[in-house]
Amino acid sequence: MLKLYNTLTRQVEEFQPLKKNAVGLYTCGPTVYNYAHIGNLRSFIFEDILKRALLTDGFRVKHIMNLTDVDDKTIKASREANQTLSKFTDIYTRAFKKDIQKLNILPPTKFALATKYIKQMVALVQKLLKKGIAYEKDDSIYFCLAKFPNYGRLARLKNQELKSGARVNVDDYEKENPADFVLWKKWTPKDGKVFWNTPLGKGRPGWHLECSAISATELGQPLDIHAGGVDLIFPHHENEIAQSETATGKPFVKYWLHGEHLLVEGQKMAKSLNNFFTLHDLEAKKFNPLAFRYLLLTAHYRSKLNFTWESLQAAQNALESIYLQIRDWDKPKVGCAEFEEKFFNAINNDLDTPRTLAIMWEMIKSPLPSAAKAQSLLKFDKILGLDFKKYIGKKEKISTAIKKLLDERVKARQEKDWEKSDELRKEIEKIGYSVEDTSQGQKILKK
Ligand code: AMP
Ligand code: ZN
Repeated sequence: MLKLYNTLTRQVEEFQPLKKNAVGLYTCGPTVYNYAHIGNLRSFIFEDILKRALLTDGFRVKHIMNLTDVDDKTIKASREANQTLSKFTDIYTRAFKKDIQKLNILPPTKFALATKYIKQMVALVQKLLKKGIAYEKDDSIYFCLAKFPNYGRLARLKNQELKSGARVNVDDYEKENPADFVLWKKWTPKDGKVFWNTPLGKGRPGWHLECSAISATELGQPLDIHAGGVDLIFPHHENEIAQSETATGKPFVKYWLHGEHLLVEGQKMAKSLNNFFTLHDLEAKKFNPLAFRYLLLTAHYRSKLNFTWESLQAAQNALESIYLQIRDWDKPKVGCAEFEEKFFNAINNDLDTPRTLAIMWEMIKSPLPSAAKAQSLLKFDKILGLDFKKYIGKKEKISTAIKKLLDERVKARQEKDWEKSDELRKEIEKIGYSVEDTSQGQKILKK
């Protein structure tokens, strides 16, 4: 039985899909104006664990992820780069897809580019205008908060915080500033060549509109699960709810899930704070992207996690040590039922990945036959996504040159010549292997 924390009720609830066995999952994707930073990637890994949990529980999942390829940021950055909006955003869309592949994030059923849904967005605004919920001011179109009494329920805004009548024209703004938000922006010279000629006039959508239009088109309304990082609760998700629920009169989403932030030195990792790293930065320091995935799994998705290079190194060491051990294991057979039960109970308990890692380690260290452990580890990897299959039972083929260095190292160590032993380790590392001294002798691993 899968239990998830629903931001709407602030409670852990049993997950009951709207339709038997088929789950609609909508996750807010990246704004493709730059490379994703590893904070962004934390949100996508949390959503990946969620999806893998649903899949292993036997649900069919239709997963839609939007890509924001038109908004204030993409327009500004593309103009600064002197490129058309579509060429510019395409660079970062491709980079994002590569990043998620390296992190073993399962791709969504569909990536939905915002610019491919302009018609649906326009229709949605027309509906809101017709109902008198949207209004025109200075040729832009705004959502009137006063017309939606439930506004602020997800973010738990207090009534006095709602300044109806105040307007915001920018896509992103702070919680202190709830106001009538823009649905359709009138073209201004700042937008350059980015505009659509539509019945709403010459302009472009406000950021919040795309998720309402895309999710309704692809998943219908209501939908089962909508997820994103905690910073999206307000204003983005609050505005999505307002748009979708007033347009149709139906509830928008049954379960809202939000992942906590990745921090650096105690602060949110953010492009605006210039305190971010990309996956490329990690790889340039010779880190395996999956070591980053492992690091994230050590924290619960609803806890903040402070990123340090030391913690990433520790994660990489842990992962490599598993790879090393499982190379010597026998072919998967039977499995360890008791550990499997504990593992899947933990994941079904609001995606408790730190607990699943502890259970995995307990099993690895147990004296059970390696074939049984291998079988269970493969099952665990359906959730963890750490590539264990590549290593189980795959003994490293050692070239004669390395074999010679290893033999020399054994001899040096027998003679307690630690200096020589270290030199030989460095030689071996130069060829691309790391050496670990274990109770069963030297183990090497391709770096
Ligand atoms: P954006 O590209 O800014 O639209 O953000 C993409 C996703 O990354 C959203 O779900 C954000 O909530 C999430 N996000 C942004 N910063 C962080 C962070 N420091 N830690 C975790 N998630 C983040
Ligand atoms: Zn969204």
